[in-house]
Parts: sequence; structure tokens; C-alpha cells
Amino acid sequence: MSKIISVNAGSSSLKFQLFEMDDETVITSGVIERIGLEDSIFTIKYNGEKDVTTLPIENHKVAVQLLLDTLIKKEIVKDLDEIKGVGHRVVQGGAYFDQSVIIDDDVVAKIDELKSLAPLHNPAHLTGYYAFKEAIPNAGAVAVFDTAFHQTLEPKSYIYPIPYKYYVENKVRKYGAHGTSHFYVSSRCREMMGNPKHSRIIVAHLGAGGSLTAVKDGKSINTSMGFTPLAGIMMGTRSGDVDPSVIDYLIEEVGLDMKEVIKMLNKESGLLGVSGVSSDFRDVQEAAANGNERAQLALDIFFRRVIAYIGRYFIALGGVDAICFTAGIGENSFFARKEICNLLAEALGIEIDDDANVNGKGDRLISTPNSKVKVYVIPTNEELVIARDTKRLLNL
Ligand code: ADP
Repeated sequence: MSKIISVNAGSSSLKFQLFEMDDETVITSGVIERIGLEDSIFTIKYNGEKDVTTLPIENHKVAVQLLLDTLIKKEIVKDLDEIKGVGHRVVQGGAYFDQSVIIDDDVVAKIDELKSLAPLHNPAHLTGYYAFKEAIPNAGAVAVFDTAFHQTLEPKSYIYPIPYKYYVENKVRKYGAHGTSHFYVSSRCREMMGNPKHSRIIVAHLGAGGSLTAVKDGKSINTSMGFTPLAGIMMGTRSGDVDPSVIDYLIEEVGLDMKEVIKMLNKESGLLGVSGVSSDFRDVQEAAANGNERAQLALDIFFRRVIAYIGRYFIALGGVDAICFTAGIGENSFFARKEICNLLAEALGIEIDDDANVNGKGDRLISTPNSKVKVYVIPTNEELVIARDTKRLLNL
């Protein structure tokens, strides 16, 4: 029996899933939110029950100790030594990491060095790493990078057309994100297609954050997020691609400073910014259905920006065999899938099976046999990829 915990440590949160790796089942999962505040929230699911506790949790070290104490108290594990490995999600691996690695001093130094590219995330991941290392020193630790899957991009796809010295001296380039999800979903899609030798797949990861990736024969060849997750499609609160001159114009005309503009583009734009209603797709959809024109406009822009990337990647891949929908909107909204596929229908010959789209559950094909492109819904599972990599690298 080998148990592995998959961890996603954010600046004020810690998400976890504990796996029994013999059969890849999730034994328990949950999240600790608002770490550092008086009213932190600890949510843990076990045996079909969900416990939510509000209590002060000073820092990540205390959060990890609380989690581990709870595992013992609830008899989820008898002894903490049963946890043989800890897999840490790391947002930014830069050009150093094209795959997951066992965490040692050199890896820690590189994750730390890359904090200039991911100032909110990388330091938080290291805080999580230290907290687990102290609490369960016998467990091995592995880092799984959100950028790794996109390291197969070629320079012609990741270099920005700005002076080359900023790439060489300052590492400015496209890194992408959601790589673990794009890897999982595209691999599962290939399996569902019967593992063909050649495959051209577009994965649409549509959640609060969203990105599309073109995957050729299992390798990412382009992705819509860029130097940071701000680039690409329209998201819940992020703008996605905009003309950078807007920044300078707003600074000059409105008197915003640079920090305010960047915050506006990250936190106040996207579905929220256009609709004025919400960043949550369901709220925007409901408002649009009730006649709110700006909510409808937000949806129209959202769908068009998604299909614009699908069009680009169709060309880049030289055609497309399958489009996969995943993440909150992609997995749950038959409306979003239908709207997007309708907009693609004429150009790509896509035909959706309404029953499979609306009523089906889990991994499934939602296109008809006549459709020129297969369309799948594949719920993502980044935690499982993290746990599998941890098991493989630690030889468990
Ligand atoms: P995150 O990027 O935070 O992981 P998620 O993948 O959980 O985000 O996606 C959150 C988004 O998914 C929200 O916009 C939410 O409205 C949307 N969503 C979740 N369930 C549904 C649903 N049944 N219909 C439409 N949208 C949904």
C-alpha cells in the first residue's frame, strides 16, 4: 500500500488529495483557505462526508500540521509514515523543467529563482514544500510543473517579436500554463481514440482561468497563455489578449498607474469586466438569458475568442482530429460547448450529439459519427497526474 498526497499550495490556500496508489483512489481531499487570517476555513471530505471548520490558521506550517493531525484523528491514516510521497504543483518551472522532478536543494533554488516570473505562486509552493518536509521528513517530494508540458514549443512559437535581448537576458518568452491539465486531457483523448500513431488535438481548458493548447502526436506545439496566465482567451476576470497600447493610454488618459492597470487586466476584466455582473460563467449566462445585453456581449466575446484560437490551432496542426472540453465551464456547461461547436460547425464540419452533450456524464464523445472532428468532454485530473509522477519518480 502506498499513499501519496498531491498538494497545491497557493499564497493563502492549500489544496490536497490523498491517494491510495494501488488502485488510484482518492481517500480524502480538501482545502485550507484564508491561511494567515483569523477565520481560515478548513474543508475536508472523507467517506462521503464533508467537514467545514472555521478557525485561525497562522501560516502554511500550521495548516499542514492541522491537516496531518486531522488525518490521524479521523483515522484516515494510522501513522503518518504511510504517506510515502508528496507531489507539489508548481506554477512556474521556466525553461529549467520539461518534466516533473524529485525536489532537492538545486530544484528548490531554481523554483526560488523563478519567483520573479510567478511572484504569488512559486514562493507559496516552497512554503508548502518546507511545511510538509518538516512534518513528514521520511516522505519523498516531487515537483510537477504547470509549464513543463509546453516546453516542447519551438522558438518560433514561444519567442515574442520584441528585441531578442529580452529573451536572452530577461527570459521573456511564452511559458504557458495549465500544462498538467492539457497533458492529462490530451493523453486521455488519445486513449479514447484508440492510441493512433498520429493525432491532432485541441484542448480547451475553460475554467475561471482558461487556455487552449494544440497537441500534435502527444506534444504541445502551442498554447494560448503566455509569459503569464494573462494572455490568450477571455477569462473570468482576466482580459486575455489586448493591445498593450491600452495600458499606456489608460495611464495617460485616466491617470491610472501601472499597478492599477495590471490589476484591472487580471482581476476586473474578462466576463466580469464586460458583463458588470459576475466572473462566474453561470451568473453571466443567467443574466444574458434574462435579457442583460452586456452579459450577452460578454458571452459572445468569450465564445469568439475561444473559436479564434481553435481556428489558429487548426491551421498550426494542419487540421484537427479532436477537440476536448475540460475544466469548470468545459466539463459542466453543455450550453457553452454547444455554442462553441455551433460557431465552428460550418468551417470544421462539426456535428454535436445533443443527447451525449446534455445528458452524458464523465469522459465521453459528444460528436455524431458524421462529424468531421471528434468532440470530447474529458474532466481534467491534475491531482492524479501529480500523484502518478510522484509514485513513478520515487519508485513507490
Ligand atoms: P478554476 O480555474 O478556479 O479551477 P474551475 O475549473 O472550477 O475554475 O471553473 C470555474 C468556472 O466554471 C466558473 O466560471 C463557473 O461558473 C463555471 N461552471 C461550473 N459549473 C458550471 C455549470 N454547471 N455551468 C456553467 N458553468 C459552470
